Amino acid sequence: MTDDRALETEATELLRTLIRNACVNDGTPASGHEDRNADALEAYLAGAGLGFERHVAAPGRASLITRIEGSDKTAPSLLLMGHTDVVPVNPSGWERDPFGAEVVDGVVWGRGATDMLHITSTMAVAVRRLATSGFHPRGTLIYLAVADEEAGGTYGASFLTREKFDAVKADYVITESGGVPIPAPSGVKLPVTVGEKGVNWRRLVVKGTPGHGSMPFRTDNALVTAAEVVRRVATYQPKARILDEWRRYVAELELAPELEAALTDPDRVLEAVGHLEPLGLARLAHACTHTTFSPNVVHGGSKINVIPDHITIDIDVRALPGVSPLDVDAMLKEAVGDLASRVEIEAPRGQEGSRTSMDTPLVEALARVTQALVPGSKIIPRLTGGATDARYFRWKGVPSYGFALHSRRIPYTEYPLMFHGNNERVDTESLRLSATMWEALCRDFLA
Ligand SMILES: [Zn+2]
Repeated sequence: MTDDRALETEATELLRTLIRNACVNDGTPASGHEDRNADALEAYLAGAGLGFERHVAAPGRASLITRIEGSDKTAPSLLLMGHTDVVPVNPSGWERDPFGAEVVDGVVWGRGATDMLHITSTMAVAVRRLATSGFHPRGTLIYLAVADEEAGGTYGASFLTREKFDAVKADYVITESGGVPIPAPSGVKLPVTVGEKGVNWRRLVVKGTPGHGSMPFRTDNALVTAAEVVRRVATYQPKARILDEWRRYVAELELAPELEAALTDPDRVLEAVGHLEPLGLARLAHACTHTTFSPNVVHGGSKINVIPDHITIDIDVRALPGVSPLDVDAMLKEAVGDLASRVEIEAPRGQEGSRTSMDTPLVEALARVTQALVPGSKIIPRLTGGATDARYFRWKGVPSYGFALHSRRIPYTEYPLMFHGNNERVDTESLRLSATMWEALCRDFLA
């Protein structure tokens, strides 16, 4: 018990340090400053007999690696990967200082508490414990505190998997996110993320003919055309696809049989999510069964008395695994219909989704370890609409998962609101559970 408390305190204090370092990544190369968290983690891990490696893709954008080398080159290796950057905040929406890392009644508040410094810190705590206890595994353990996840990994996972793959390659990878318990009649379900959608950002350029705003009759106003384009894209619904991961996830929720059938039927799922409560489940069900299109930014117009000839619309498209960037362009053309000739499609980012099998020795080990820590629990597959660094490894054929272990103190319905949102926080019991789980998993899987 005392050791549990010491572990909880150690993980909590490390997480607070990482939050206070405020490695805010706003997408510009000069932001992030992840070297601050790399320094903090190296200082924390120092003295345990570990060596360190740094890879710096741009000034300030440091990623830190440490490893416990295995004795058997044929034994499977494991990479524990946590990102060290966080997204910007709007402090006015927060009840507490987003970078104060206050602990209130056993809950740590701050940007990164759930995305994903709680994992980065608890993985480090487990690695330190393993190293100081003289852990000599057969399989190699690698810990990577990686920069720039929040802006797509250009200075982090993308760079490392492309330029420095020898430093980070492993047989299995675990990173964010998952492990928030979902209560179900037969027991708690622990989702492990096994796939994610492809981020496809598109810019639609709508052309018109300039003219005087005082005489709008029969003019070719690009903004008026763009309004119709936005309406069509926002209401467009490509045909649903039911992936096996979604089918397995829904079955584990133990819903009413009729609802389960509707949510896993490509012909009925859209109708079913139309009136499904809670809203969070409806959005998730829609996103896991459809390629989605969200028009989020519009630019154009120059002066109130000038009819605009040029409007741009930025659309966040998230493609189901198996839907290529070319498929996305074809869907957009279909969505805008007879206005297609008025619209040019630019593609700032087009990426495939990614998937990993649930049926691997690592997931078996994860199931053993979590069942010991949370009796009666069951690991279930989960798809995410968000993008994580796991995709760079999945694209290279490395089975990669999103997981951590949370207590039931903060309900699972609360988590989607905290990612990139206000009042991000995590309870310290979850930190203890995750740190314990990482250590047990390494002892089980790598020994
Ligand atoms: Zn994250």
